[in-house]
Amino acid sequence: MSKKDYYEVLGLDRNASEAEIKKAYRRLAKQYHPDLNKDDPEAENKFKEMKEAYDVLSDPQKKARYDRFGHEAGAPGGFDGFGGAGFGGIDEIFEQFFGGMGGMGGRRRQRGPEQGDHLRYDMEITLEEAFYGGDKVITIPRTETCPECDGKRAKSADGAETCPSCGGSGQQQYTRSTPFGRFVSMQVCSNCRGEGTIISDPCPTCSAQGRVVEERKIEIKIPPGVEDGSRLRVSGGGEAGMRGGPSGDLYVVFRVRPHKVFQRKGSDLWLEETLSISQAALGVEKEISTLDGTANLTIPGGTQHGATFRLKGHGMPRLRGSGRGDLHVKVKVNVPKRLSQRQKELLEEFAYLNGEEVGVESKGFFDRMKDAFGGG
Ligand SMILES: [Zn+2]
Ligand SMILES: [Zn+2]
Repeated sequence: MSKKDYYEVLGLDRNASEAEIKKAYRRLAKQYHPDLNKDDPEAENKFKEMKEAYDVLSDPQKKARYDRFGHEAGAPGGFDGFGGAGFGGIDEIFEQFFGGMGGMGGRRRQRGPEQGDHLRYDMEITLEEAFYGGDKVITIPRTETCPECDGKRAKSADGAETCPSCGGSGQQQYTRSTPFGRFVSMQVCSNCRGEGTIISDPCPTCSAQGRVVEERKIEIKIPPGVEDGSRLRVSGGGEAGMRGGPSGDLYVVFRVRPHKVFQRKGSDLWLEETLSISQAALGVEKEISTLDGTANLTIPGGTQHGATFRLKGHGMPRLRGSGRGDLHVKVKVNVPKRLSQRQKELLEEFAYLNGEEVGVESKGFFDRMKDAFGGG
């Protein structure tokens, strides 16, 4: 085992922060991982050295002990290194740092700092809010590091002790002799129930959990042009970490409510505009309502029902890139249901000029008269 200074091994000075330690380790672990340095026998030793240094410096208790007593603090065997079992695959090792949404499952190594869980918050917004963007404050209950004990779980500084049964590893080795031979198994330490620490003086605020649930207000910046289902990551906005680990992230998923007037496809908007038959036939200058005002649209004579016009740049802001999408105006031609006598005459004249036959044989005037006088 090396007796090099752990800080030196990681290329850090003595007052390096938790984040700096982690960063240095990630960088070096990538550089010296044996899987990536199959031709370099030195790399494996470097990797072991650095892993040992990280195991100590990333654990607040071991770090405190090391800072005070140096290498005399504890036998290297007390630190959980790779235990001679060989290296895990590179994915397995990085998994614990870059862990996905679901956590690390059973692969989690014992007692190290652990990142808090990620949280998801679905935020419902209107199309107008999606258009303009802006700030919105949300309240989410999430676990926080206990403010009273700062996550140490004990009320007083010496109220937390490393478990004497397992030396802080949370695991104990059991040996059983059977007619088939001796079996050695690792089991969760019964003394500390796998925690690695015995709390003699539990913090009353968090009941020795080290974390408390608090309603936290977080300001969310809605980006203009945000789409239904867009995801925003608030780094560190999730649950507090365990044993000095970083907080998880908060994922805000935007849900844009359907709009009464506008339909949306990406950064384009669609709108239905009703025209009378005379407007459709003769053309018209129309003032169209947009999401942020009005725009003028020239509808030429002879426009058909279902025709679509495009107002460039009157759609939604583009979430990625600049500028705005377009507003598509779909024309609906409305046929009048009631006509005055004069309107009727004019339309009949129009039909006549067109050489069209108009009018229907329905229950006409004479039929209705007969009904009214009970004739048959
Ligand atoms: Zn507490
Ligand atoms: Zn124990």
